[in-house]
Amino acid sequence: MNKKTIFGVDEWKIVETNLHKENMRLAESIMSLGNGYMGMRGNFEEKYSGDMLRGTYIGGVWYPDPTRVGWWKNGYPKYYGKVINSTNFIGIDVLLEGEELDLFKIPLVEYYRELDMKNGILYRRFIIDHNGKKTKFEVRRFLSIVKKELCVISYEATPLNYSGEISFIPYLDGDVENEDSNYNEKFWLEIDRGVSLKEGFLTMKTKENSFGTPRFTVCNRMKLEASKDCEIEIIKKDKYVANKMTFKTEENEAIKIIKYISVVSSRDYKEEELTSKSLELVEQAARVTFDSLKKEHMEAWQKRWEKADVEISGDMEAQQGIRFNLFQMFSTYYGEDSRLNIGPKGFTGEKYGGATYWDTEAFVFPVYLSVADKEVAKNLLLYRYNQLKEAYYNAQQQGLKGALYPMVTFTGVECHNEWEITFEEIHRNGAIAYAIYNYVNYTGDKSYLENYGIDVLIGISRFWADRVHYHKKKDVYMIHGVTGPNEYENNVNNNWYTNTMAAWTLEYTLEVIAYLRQIKKDHRVAYYQVSKEEENKWKDIINKMYYPYDKELGIFIQHDTFLDKELVTVDNLSDKDRPLNQNWSWDKILRSCFIKQADVLQGLYFLNHKFTFEEKKRNFEFYEPMTVHESSLSPCVHSILAAELKMEDKAVEMYKRTARLDLDNYNNDTEDGLHITSMAGSWLSIVHGFAGLRTFNEKISFSPFIPKDWDSYSFKINYRDRLIKVYVNKDSIVITLEKGEALKLNVYDKEYNLIDKLCCKLIKNGGL
Ligand code: BGC
Repeated sequence: MNKKTIFGVDEWKIVETNLHKENMRLAESIMSLGNGYMGMRGNFEEKYSGDMLRGTYIGGVWYPDPTRVGWWKNGYPKYYGKVINSTNFIGIDVLLEGEELDLFKIPLVEYYRELDMKNGILYRRFIIDHNGKKTKFEVRRFLSIVKKELCVISYEATPLNYSGEISFIPYLDGDVENEDSNYNEKFWLEIDRGVSLKEGFLTMKTKENSFGTPRFTVCNRMKLEASKDCEIEIIKKDKYVANKMTFKTEENEAIKIIKYISVVSSRDYKEEELTSKSLELVEQAARVTFDSLKKEHMEAWQKRWEKADVEISGDMEAQQGIRFNLFQMFSTYYGEDSRLNIGPKGFTGEKYGGATYWDTEAFVFPVYLSVADKEVAKNLLLYRYNQLKEAYYNAQQQGLKGALYPMVTFTGVECHNEWEITFEEIHRNGAIAYAIYNYVNYTGDKSYLENYGIDVLIGISRFWADRVHYHKKKDVYMIHGVTGPNEYENNVNNNWYTNTMAAWTLEYTLEVIAYLRQIKKDHRVAYYQVSKEEENKWKDIINKMYYPYDKELGIFIQHDTFLDKELVTVDNLSDKDRPLNQNWSWDKILRSCFIKQADVLQGLYFLNHKFTFEEKKRNFEFYEPMTVHESSLSPCVHSILAAELKMEDKAVEMYKRTARLDLDNYNNDTEDGLHITSMAGSWLSIVHGFAGLRTFNEKISFSPFIPKDWDSYSFKINYRDRLIKVYVNKDSIVITLEKGEALKLNVYDKEYNLIDKLCCKLIKNGGL
C-alpha cells in the first residue's frame, strides 16, 4: 500500500478494501465511470446516509446558474454554466426483513470495491451483519462504451447463515440537486413518469431560464430482470418511480436482479421521441443480455488499450497511475461527438461545471493527437470553429474587435463570472490558435487551414491587434491588465507569456495567409477582407512587441513588476501554509511571488523550438523554485522541461505529482472530482518529457531517458498515418513501425530511417 493512498496498488485495478467513511467523497471521485456521453461518481446503489456527493452527469446537458457576486460590474457574464447533476438512475435500495439497509450504519464484515480499468467495470463485494444475520452482496456496473446511452447493473445478494426475506427497490430519482447551485435552486422539472412491473421511466426537463440558453429534456428508463420469482410492488411519487421486489430466499441461495437503464436526451432526439426511444433501447439491451453487453464493452476497452496503453515495468505505482489517467481521460472523451468537449473534472464532480476550458487545447489536445485517430483531434478543433461567432460576441462585449474565445463555456459564449478570469485571462486565445498550429504541424494535414483554421486565426489575430496598445515614447506595443496562466496574480501588465502568444499568433496567421495565397486557396482571407494595411499593422506589432526581460539574470520576466516582489522560494513555506489557496487570504497570495502554475515556462514549452537550451535552463531555475504547483496543470509542464534540461530527478518528482495527483490526493481536493487535465499531463510527461518527443518543423525526434526506478517503459503514438511503438529500457531504445510507411526520425539529434525496427543505445543524460 502506498504511503498516501487509501487504494491498493495494482497494475490494472484500483482497489479499496475498507469503507473509508471519512474519505467517502475521495473514493467516489476515484471510482467514477464514464463513457464520453455520460458519467457518474462511484456512488453506491444502496442508501448511504453519511457524507457523500451524489453525481450523475450527461455531457452537454447544462444549466445557466445565475451569477452571484458581491458587487456587480458591467460586462459580467450573467450566469455560470454548469453540467448539472441529473436523475439518479443507479439507485437500488435494499430491505432486509423489512428493515432498510444503510451502508453508513450497518456493521460490515467484509468490504471490497474495485475499479477494473482494463474492462471499464466497477465491482463491489461486501458482507453485512444484520443482527447476526450475514448477507453477502456482489454488484457490477458499467456504462457501455459501445451503446453510449446504456448503463447496466447486476445486483446480487446471498444470505449466508439464514433463510428470509430480502427486498430490492430499484428506482429512478429525479429529485436531485447541485451542491454548488448559486441560489440553492433545483434545476429539473418533471415532465412525465410511468411505472409497471419490472419497468419504469422518468422524463425530466431543465427549468426555464431568462438567458435564452437551450433547455434539455432527459428520459431515463429502467428494465428489470430477476433471477427468480418475486413479489412486486409499484411505487411512484413526484420525480420518482420504483419497483419493490421481494424475494423469499434460502440460506446460501443467491438472488440477483439486472437493471438495464437507458438515458436519452433532447440533444439527440425530438422531445416527443424520448419515451419510445428509451423503451427501444432497454428492450434491445435486455434481449442482448447482460453478459453479451459486458463482453462487447470489454472488447471495446481492449481495442482502446491496444492503441494507447503505456507500459511501465519496475514501478507498479507509476504503472497504475498512468493507466488510471488514461482510463479516466477516455471515459470523459473519446471524440465521438464534436458538440462535446473535455471538462477539467470530466463527469466526476461539480467543480468547473463540466464546461470547456483552455485546458483542452493546451494539455489534452496533444494527447489525443497521438493516441486516437486524427478525426478525434480534428473534432476538438471544429468545436472551436463552430463557436467562432460567439467568440466575436465575447470580444464585442469587452468593446474589442476580433474573436475572444471564452475561458469557460458550453456554447462559445463566456460563462465564467470572475472578472479577473473572464476579462483578463485572455491568454486562452493563444492556446486556441496554437492547437491549430499543433494539429497541422503534427498531422501534416494543411487542408484544415483553408476552410476552418484560417477563420479562427484571423478572428484571434484581430482581437490581439485591438487589445494591444502602442507606447509612443518607447515605440513598443504592450498588453496591460491581464491575468497570465499564473492565476495567483491578477491585472498585471505585459505578462510575458500573453505577449509572446499574441505576437506568435499574428506571425502564424500571416504565415498561413501567405501559404494559402501561394496555393491559391485564400478565399476565406478574401472573405474577411484582410488588407495589406492590416497585415502591415500586424507586422508592426510583431516587430515591436514588448517582452519584459532581465539582462542580468538572463530571464524573461513574468510581467512588468514581478522582480519588484519579495522573491523567496517555496522551501521557505511551512506545511501549514500549503496549499496557499486554502490557508492564505487572497490579497496575500496576490502580493506574494508564489506562482500557481507554469507561466513563462508554459511559453517555453509551447514554443520550445524557438528558445535555446540555456534560455530554458535559466528560466526554469529561476521560476520553478517559486512555484507551488497548486494548479494540476503545473507539474507536467515542469516535468517535460526538466527532462529536456536533463534534470532527471526533478522530472521524475514532477511526473509523480501529476501521475498520481488524484490517487494520492496531492492537492487535497480530489473529493471534488478528478483532474482530467493533469491526467493528460502525465501522459505528456512520459512521452514529451522522458522520451523527449518533439515534432517541430516537420521533423519527429526523441531523446529518451529512463527514471532510475523503472526497468522499462513503452508507449505508442499515431504520427502522420503511422503507428509507432517506442520502448525504452536501461540500455536501449527500440522504435518499431507497427503500421504505415517508413519515415525519417531523429534520436538524440542523429537521423535514422525507420523502416521496420530501430535499436539505439540509451545515452545517459542525453549525452550531456
Ligand atoms: C487553473 C486554470 C485552469 C482551471 C481548470 C485553474 O486552477 O489555474 O489554468 O484552466 O483550473 O483546470
